[in-house]
Amino acid sequence: MDEVFLTLNAGSSSIKFSVFLNQEKLIEKIQGQVENIGPTARLIYKHIGEEKNIIEIGAANHKTALQEIFSRGISSLGGDNITGIGHRIAHGGIDFTKPVKLSKPIIEKLRLLESLAPLHQPHNLKGIEAAQEAFPDAFQIGCFDTAFHRNHDWVNDTFALPRRFYEKGIRRYGFHGLSYDFITSELAKTEPALAKSRVIIAHLGNGASMCGVKEGRSIASTMGFSPLDGLPMGTRCGQLDPGVLLYLMENENMMASEISDLLYKKSGLLGLSGMTNDMRALTSTDKPEAKQALSYYATRTRREIGAMAALLQGVDGLIFCGGIGENSAPMRKMIVNGLEFLGLELDETANLKNNREIGKGKTRILAIKTDEERIIARALREFYSPNS
Ligand code: ADP
Repeated sequence: MDEVFLTLNAGSSSIKFSVFLNQEKLIEKIQGQVENIGPTARLIYKHIGEEKNIIEIGAANHKTALQEIFSRGISSLGGDNITGIGHRIAHGGIDFTKPVKLSKPIIEKLRLLESLAPLHQPHNLKGIEAAQEAFPDAFQIGCFDTAFHRNHDWVNDTFALPRRFYEKGIRRYGFHGLSYDFITSELAKTEPALAKSRVIIAHLGNGASMCGVKEGRSIASTMGFSPLDGLPMGTRCGQLDPGVLLYLMENENMMASEISDLLYKKSGLLGLSGMTNDMRALTSTDKPEAKQALSYYATRTRREIGAMAALLQGVDGLIFCGGIGENSAPMRKMIVNGLEFLGLELDETANLKNNREIGKGKTRILAIKTDEERIIARALREFYSPNS
């Protein structure tokens, strides 16, 4: 019987999970998720190196989805003993700057941050409750997406609002920190010179953001107060003139909940194309709306690369990660096109092959598979001592 760690990453429409052997070299045993939480949810999981299992579970909310993960996904472990559970938590506010052991008072503090990430934090906290109920003896920790960015200089942490709003916590928190943490740790291992220099990491998935990293430290993020700002995303708008919100309220009589639905779920690639937020589908159609959506996505992303390069005072490497960054050769090409002045030039053959090294200019360009779950498992391992 092995001791294993479980990682849980509860988003708005999916819950991802992984199981790692609790050993010095963390070995992943199972990877899976419940996707499409709602009327047509399904559980997909695989033991590493084996075929995927796909189970249609029908209607599911977050609670029942977690029950399916616990009763079917994880039961396939046999007699292994889950001794530690790590949760990805969207928002750690100002105070949570590193992983934390989850206790009642800590969870109450995290509940106070729900309004800062209304589409993520409540699900994260429900995941904690359900895991505590199902595994009362397991050690449980929270790892924060905001923590990696907590050392930004004040200018990159604030909005130009009266100061009292900053004191109240209206700041640029930045997200995707677990992914950036993983990529910087990979660079430290495999590219020590690059790890010590100026790097832009573009995490392009359904959610998308970019982080400027100097000597391993985040100096700025395109995401700000909420996971809406910065780059356009699958269904989120990215940067938007705040005047648009005032207009929508005053002239379209839209309520906050309707605006939230518009900005989080109906905008981005989906809104612009009127078709889908799936990058694969958009890059394989000739529909003019799809082409315009891709052009907007690439242009805004390129613009932010320029902005990050200015903050970093130059750039030595551009790292792509996330579902689009790791896999979409056409989108990487559109983004990098025209950035030769920053030394960024794609090696087209390497790009098409989805190689790790895809640049041929002065500035390195890499595509690296990110692994947020491993960062959580590493944190568990640091906390957990079987003899304590
Ligand atoms: P999430 O933020 O939900 O974790 P992912 O990182 O899985 O999202 O990224 C989802 C995006 O990645 C989608 O737009 C999807 O189309 C795109 N994607 C995934 N695989 C590929 C691929 N092989 N080629 C192009 N795009 C891909």
